[in-house]
Amino acid sequence: MSKIPVIEIFGPTIQGEGAVIGVKTMFVRTYGCDYRCGWCDSAFTWDGSAKDKVQLMEPEAILNELLDLAGDNFDCVTISGGNPALIGESMADFVKLLHERGIQAAIETQGSRWQDWFYDIDVLTISPKPPSSGMVTDWEKLDDIINRLRLAGKAAHSLKVVVFNEEDFAYARNVHRRYPEIPMYLQPGNEDVTEPGDISARLLGRLEWLFNLVIADPAMNRVRVLPQLHALIWHNKRGK
Ligand code: SF4
Repeated sequence: MSKIPVIEIFGPTIQGEGAVIGVKTMFVRTYGCDYRCGWCDSAFTWDGSAKDKVQLMEPEAILNELLDLAGDNFDCVTISGGNPALIGESMADFVKLLHERGIQAAIETQGSRWQDWFYDIDVLTISPKPPSSGMVTDWEKLDDIINRLRLAGKAAHSLKVVVFNEEDFAYARNVHRRYPEIPMYLQPGNEDVTEPGDISARLLGRLEWLFNLVIADPAMNRVRVLPQLHALIWHNKRGK
């Protein structure tokens, strides 16, 4: 069985973002990303700074570690990165193992790569990156991913855009206009992922700023604006 490069396994914790916000979940963070977002809050998953922490693990070993950490105190696993969509068959095997145990699989990816195992994910969040990231969206690729999910009647997928400035907001509006039937979440970006201490006042200020943009924009009548819930409680701490 092929292996998955894993850099972090932790939980249980509370999912702080997107469609499953507030849900108790374990996290599995894979190593490697095909993007280099300027504000990436998990650059250690690709910049080499934590390479010594990467373990190549078989799906069963990951499941065993989750069970060692939490026993039966979870029934959702969030697979994050990096970009977990860089991983092929071994991820399909891992998702199958979770389902055999009645555990849900949630995943977040930027929508730059397709994998057939997307069909099996219970909660799939596609999070295209706005201009402030410095990345350029491959719209053809994103259309292809959304169309495949649409044709498969895959209901539980959504879009999430992190917004740092008005240009990002215009990008989010374009994404929403392009895929109007897909539930869309907006989230204000955390402008300093290294700031120590309590950052909740700063984050709430940005949330209010984003609320006001959405309130004023008739093209955004159906989006949902959410905070990064975990960051309000645990701030910039890692592994939370
Ligand atoms: Fe970081 Fe995600 Fe961007 Fe990759 S896609 S660089 S993990 S923010």
